[in-house]
Amino acid sequence: QEKDYQMMLRTRTPGGFVPPQFYLALDRLSEVYGNQTLRITSRQAFQMHGIPKQDLKTVVADIVRSMGSTLGACGDLNRNVIAPPAPFKNRPEYQYAWKYANKVANLFTPKTGAYYEIWLDGDKIISAEESPAQKVARQQDLNAGIFTESVEPFYGTQYLPRKFKCCVTVPGDNSVDVYTHDISLVVITDQYGELEGFNVLTGGGMGRTHNKEETFARLSDHLGYVDKGDIYKLLKAIGAIQRDYGDRSNRLHARMKYLIHDWGIEKFKAKVESYFGKPLQPFKELPPWEYQDFLGWHEQGDGKLFLGILIENGRVQDKGNLKLKTALRKVVEQFNLPIRLTPNHNLIFYDIEQSQKTAIEKVLEIHGVEINPDRLNSLTRYGMACPALPTCGLAITESERALPGVLERINLLLEKLNMVNEQLVIRMTGCPNGCVRPYLAELGFVGRGPGTYQVWLGGTTDGTKLAQPYVQSLQIEDLEAFLEPIFLYFQANRKSNESFGVFCHRVGFDKLQEI
Ligand code: SF4
Repeated sequence: QEKDYQMMLRTRTPGGFVPPQFYLALDRLSEVYGNQTLRITSRQAFQMHGIPKQDLKTVVADIVRSMGSTLGACGDLNRNVIAPPAPFKNRPEYQYAWKYANKVANLFTPKTGAYYEIWLDGDKIISAEESPAQKVARQQDLNAGIFTESVEPFYGTQYLPRKFKCCVTVPGDNSVDVYTHDISLVVITDQYGELEGFNVLTGGGMGRTHNKEETFARLSDHLGYVDKGDIYKLLKAIGAIQRDYGDRSNRLHARMKYLIHDWGIEKFKAKVESYFGKPLQPFKELPPWEYQDFLGWHEQGDGKLFLGILIENGRVQDKGNLKLKTALRKVVEQFNLPIRLTPNHNLIFYDIEQSQKTAIEKVLEIHGVEINPDRLNSLTRYGMACPALPTCGLAITESERALPGVLERINLLLEKLNMVNEQLVIRMTGCPNGCVRPYLAELGFVGRGPGTYQVWLGGTTDGTKLAQPYVQSLQIEDLEAFLEPIFLYFQANRKSNESFGVFCHRVGFDKLQEI
């Protein structure tokens, strides 16, 4: 007799877009087949945990019939494509970012019909037919040697050496952690808001392994600029180089960041240009990056509103007086609103009529959901934790269940030191895979063993600097004794308005280590 396996599934939701009927299906399925919760991920997807193996087919088929999909959400292929979640209707660059997040997702979607054969008995809800333009593009790829004539023209028989992550954003909006993906595109528009092309970054990635120096978190490089008409060809060229030259003998060394590290960006760029067929143009100058979470009420630019809601650690559930899951379901049922999940595992309702605002606030208020960002604790607001125990098989220690207590203790310490107004970006993971990108945090906790964490310092609030490991193994019960001297040193030596991450970066670890 087979064991009672429980499974996790993850949605394919480019740009975090979840239509209302899909949300209601996920909510219902999680109640009937899952563990009665939903988990928003740091790649703008939902995870559903605890599904009995024998019910998986029912659940996946229901998801597809509800306008959703799980195709390509796991495995050695392109994962969920992320994009800024703010639904600004009067800013064309945001519209392009959403559109191209979908296009990149479609470009790298496996062409096999196996997904539908397995989960829907061959019932193709979504047509895989090629358009005439796609046929022409495929023939060009065949001629250029990027694609082969097979069931999977891009992925071939062996897919990619490892998972592959893409992102599309707009200049200045770093709600996506733009430097952490295999490929990031930055939309470039002209003075009239017309799309001209894209800046392209390559070679970011967070995952590493403890005690293996050859594995590391890496920020991406600026590769160059490409006109809009060439973007698909360039994306396919980059993906094909990872497919053809990525390390297939060692999974710890298989991400594209290692290929770029080993070759150097100039050699990688030359290889891209040889697949692409022409030189890349120089990377265009961009404004500084800024992180925004878009919580609370905002105008979306067409007379309607959007509302960003904090989802602590991404977990949608009813717990104690906070009936978050019920509240979100009621809002979707009553107002039929579309959703954008954010890369900080929060949620945005949008296309809200001004006349609906009060009624929505009422529903959320009676279920205990706080929507005023000024009343949220700032450590909780900017913190992130991965799921870890008990649902992630790779977890070494706690994360989602531990972070609230850790933040509470740090809050008390900041109060004691008269530093309550500090806005620290704190991220925690249960293992060094780094799913919530702890290596960009101002204070990153990376699971090392039961109740112990490696501590990383030196990331910044704008997501542009890589943190460094400061101590290898902190017993979490020693948290206050460890942090207090560092915070005191920061308080005494910071420049005016200098953030903790920038300070750590400026003074350097030699100084911090002397404390
Ligand atoms: Fe990701 Fe590791 Fe956390 Fe699991 S424990 S969710 S693999 S970071």
